[in-house]
Amino acid sequence: MATQTDILDLVHESVVTCDAAGTIMSWNKGSELLYGWPRSAALGRDINQLLATRHDNIGQLQRQAFAEGSWEGELIRSTAVGEERVIDVRWTTEVEPDGTPLRIIETARDVSQRKATEDALRISEYRYRNMFQAMAVAFWEVDFTRVGAMLIPLRDQGVTDLRAYLMANRDFVRTTMQRAEVIDLNVNGLAFFGAETRDAIIGRTIADFWPEASEPVYVDALVATMSRQPHIVTETKLYRLDGALVDVLFTVSLSQDNRKRGVILIGVVDISARKQAEAALQKVQTDFAHAARVSMLGELTASIAHEVNQPLAAIATSAAASLRWLAADSPDIEEVRSLAQRMAADARRASDIIARVRDMAERREPERLPLSLNALVEEVVLFLDHELKAQNVVVDLQLGADLPIVPMDRTQIQQVIVNLAVNALQAMAGCDQRRLGIATATLPDGRLSLEVTDNGHGLLDQPNKLFEGFFTTKASGLGMGLSICRSIVEAHGGTIAAAQADPGARFIVTLPAPIIAMPGAA
Ligand code: ADP
Repeated sequence: MATQTDILDLVHESVVTCDAAGTIMSWNKGSELLYGWPRSAALGRDINQLLATRHDNIGQLQRQAFAEGSWEGELIRSTAVGEERVIDVRWTTEVEPDGTPLRIIETARDVSQRKATEDALRISEYRYRNMFQAMAVAFWEVDFTRVGAMLIPLRDQGVTDLRAYLMANRDFVRTTMQRAEVIDLNVNGLAFFGAETRDAIIGRTIADFWPEASEPVYVDALVATMSRQPHIVTETKLYRLDGALVDVLFTVSLSQDNRKRGVILIGVVDISARKQAEAALQKVQTDFAHAARVSMLGELTASIAHEVNQPLAAIATSAAASLRWLAADSPDIEEVRSLAQRMAADARRASDIIARVRDMAERREPERLPLSLNALVEEVVLFLDHELKAQNVVVDLQLGADLPIVPMDRTQIQQVIVNLAVNALQAMAGCDQRRLGIATATLPDGRLSLEVTDNGHGLLDQPNKLFEGFFTTKASGLGMGLSICRSIVEAHGGTIAAAQADPGARFIVTLPAPIIAMPGAA
């Protein structure tokens, strides 16, 4: 038959009995495992000495336990190897019939691990709350559980490209928004929405704050949630409570903890001031670029006038000849017809030249249209044709075959090419043989490149310096040409650089590769 000690050894927990003075009378396997002391070493020892129980007044605690029959709580004790443990202890006390304390039966288990986890959780929760409230960002927590419930079945229905599906089913997207409820927001969140109290926002759904135009950003957030990306950052527009549209930097954080709670954390920063500043800067740049173009046209006036004059003179000659033919006794109608055709062609030529000049001189908002870089280069060469001939410049045009069409602002990119070409002409002013090279190509990484080379005097300073505003080495130079070129190229997502050539200089412009629509992408 099993003894009491055998039975106690089957229990996982530590079970210890002590007499009224705290001397250990029994010590099961669980106690050996928990504290590291073998039974032989523990029996007969004072339990609180053996385990270095940390308590202000353990004697008082025991007396109280004898008076009340039991006690339970947490004690900090040391193991045989001196490690401190948090122990969850239950005491049951027994007394003599006359009330004299007899023994304490103690069961105990190690809760250090749980305590550590709880502490870590508390700290992490505290930190999260602190950040949630204190960051200079408007934060909202949104309950996404009902949205998740709408999205998960889609997978079972065979929807593989979630983004494409959502973009094609905007009503569905709106419905998910109407189910995404705001459950918390911080003080900055209140300020952002222009809300007086939290109640004005909490309980509403994000559909109230989402303009239709910002739906693609929301769709991206949904796709990120479903594909378990940790966060997304993007720019978009949201409504305030008063209905005003605000430009925001929008972030969604999908931490694992929040994911478990079915909550997503949305952070928004009001960037309308930055957007306005950007727009103002863009306007200044556009104005500057325009001013630079007009001044460049000024430099080319003689050349342009000459170019317009040529067809006009030809028209005058043809007109005079026609009159002569008509004045003859038997007017040669065929001859007059052919002269009239020539006059029409010359008039078209003159008006084409004027149209090109007007395009350059016009003040227009920048726009992006898919254009051929080669076509723009050819137009510029035509535009400068007279100037090039007047200065005896040999043009070496090497236009790459099969260049992709990329979005560009026609006038701006042409301004860059004209600027680089005019600079090259100026650098070659003292040369006998002038050679202007213009080459386009597709780089191995898909970007477009445009190179303008000359055999002039070469760079007179560090290549980088040339692009700074107001840097010039010319007596009557303004030093804005290359600076404007750089801002135009960078606004197109490209780069511009200068290099010494032998002889002369080389300017290299790159433009980003066209975005190729991926199959299945919306
Ligand atoms: P600007 O023509 O009014 O001087 P830019 O910004 O167009 O202003 O050019 C700045 C400077 O860059 C020029 O003064 C010149 O020193 C240098 N530079 C530009 N193009 C060339 C070139 N093709 N060869 C040598 N130097 C050049």
